[in-house]
Amino acid sequence: MSQQETQVSLIMIFGATGDLAKRKLFPSLYHLYRKGKLTDQFAVVGVARRPWTNEEFVQHVKNSIENAVGCHEDIDDFASHFYYQPHDVSDTASYQQLKELASELDTKYRLEGNRIFYLAMAPEFFGTIAHHLKGEGLTDTAGFKRLVIEKPFGHDLPSAQELNESLRKAFKEDEIYRIDHYLGKQMVQNIEVIRFANALFEPLWNNRFISNIQVTSSEVLGVEERGRYYEKSGALRDMVQNHMLQMVALLAMEPPIKLTTDEIRSEKVKALRAMRQMEANEVPTYFVRGQYGSGVNGETKVVGYREEPNVDEQSNTETYVGGKILIDNFRWAGVPFYIRTGKRMAAKSTKIVVQFKDIPMNLYYGATKPLSPNLLVIHIQPDEGITLHLNAQRDGSSTETKPVKLSFANNSVDSMNTPEAYEKLLYDCMRGDATNFTHWDEVALSWAFVDKISEYWSSTPASFPNYEAGSMGPKQADELLSNDGFHWWPIDHLDVDKC
Ligand code: NAD
Repeated sequence: MSQQETQVSLIMIFGATGDLAKRKLFPSLYHLYRKGKLTDQFAVVGVARRPWTNEEFVQHVKNSIENAVGCHEDIDDFASHFYYQPHDVSDTASYQQLKELASELDTKYRLEGNRIFYLAMAPEFFGTIAHHLKGEGLTDTAGFKRLVIEKPFGHDLPSAQELNESLRKAFKEDEIYRIDHYLGKQMVQNIEVIRFANALFEPLWNNRFISNIQVTSSEVLGVEERGRYYEKSGALRDMVQNHMLQMVALLAMEPPIKLTTDEIRSEKVKALRAMRQMEANEVPTYFVRGQYGSGVNGETKVVGYREEPNVDEQSNTETYVGGKILIDNFRWAGVPFYIRTGKRMAAKSTKIVVQFKDIPMNLYYGATKPLSPNLLVIHIQPDEGITLHLNAQRDGSSTETKPVKLSFANNSVDSMNTPEAYEKLLYDCMRGDATNFTHWDEVALSWAFVDKISEYWSSTPASFPNYEAGSMGPKQADELLSNDGFHWWPIDHLDVDKC
């Protein structure tokens, strides 16, 4: 490992006793350490409300890693870099103590004044923390300073603008790393490589050869313990504004002139700008909402959303969104991008299906007529890989075809688990590579698009529940496609074949 690939910085985690830190951040940092991507020149300060000592925090970090990773090699050395500071976000004195600790650690670990402030906390605290970090001089440092924040970034465009303005008082745009953990996923990052590194696909990647693109992100789980949060968010804000639109942007963007952060982001922004804006009365033509009722999850009977804990029994919150997005530019005019995401669906899966147009004249026939279209399936999770669906000759027949699949399964190729999204994103942030984080312009455009839908939905009554737990969503979402002569490709038929 060369010196340039290892990182030197102080990482302050606000909300260090919470779930995100425990399940994702500590295990990711540990992986980076084990891979030599963190040298001994790093320190982590955990900041949270609980009056813990350093020793209690270090033990918590070790337990989290053992639970998540099931391995404890070098764990004592690793955990010796961790410190704890009890803290209240609105208390000035807490930040002064934090500043002293940061300076001590800077000297002790030769951190060159590099600081990452990771806000693993509810967004209502972001503005206050940023204000104090600047006010108490924590951002006044000789090295770099970077702010990492989690979704949700506001709950509509005005609130996101307000939040952004408060952060920008302390950090410049290029110092703000807005996490969208989908962008850390191996196969989401691979979308660009598949498109731009294969002569096979790029010439076909347009409205002359592609008939439609389908992006699905479905969960089997219901709302679990998150009812209070979800009631205010719903699937549109929780999934569509960020993850789904980010995947659409990566699929639709033009090739960047260089693989730099600015060039890639600028192409994504253009794709988002080209999304056709809807008038309020057009929303039902393009978007469908759903909420799960009771049903069966595997063998188990499950309750409907309105019966879940912390959920209003008359709730109008959507747990499913299906939509058709049109991108009005030369490349994509006339090609629908269908998206769907929901809870309590039949399968847990994130997949992209690119359906190619039919060949101009059919000489052959599929066993089930007509001939199957060619599909490129990008499997994002839980499988990771790509599958190309082709037609080949059926044995013993000169005119009949059979479908064949060419599969690449990421997990089985290197026989290792692909790195967690957070591990990659943390590493990118330490190296100052913001490509896989969302720029403010992307956030703003996505909110402007989604706000139109939520405004319409909040002003019209929903007829909920309208899909059964364990199904693939409401039937109106099927009609979105059947009106255009298409259908959703069934997720379970598209599985990647393990080599
Ligand atoms: P959590 O409730 O488990 O933890 C919250 C943390 O904030 C705790 O450490 C708590 O001590 C601290 N805190 C709360 N009020 C405080 C105050 N006044 N002063 C100081 N510290 C205070 O939350 P979480 O699940 O870890 O999520 C954190 C953020 O990350 C949220 O914005 C959430 O939406 C986002 N997020 C979480 C996950 C996940 O997997 N948990 C995934 C994506 C995004």
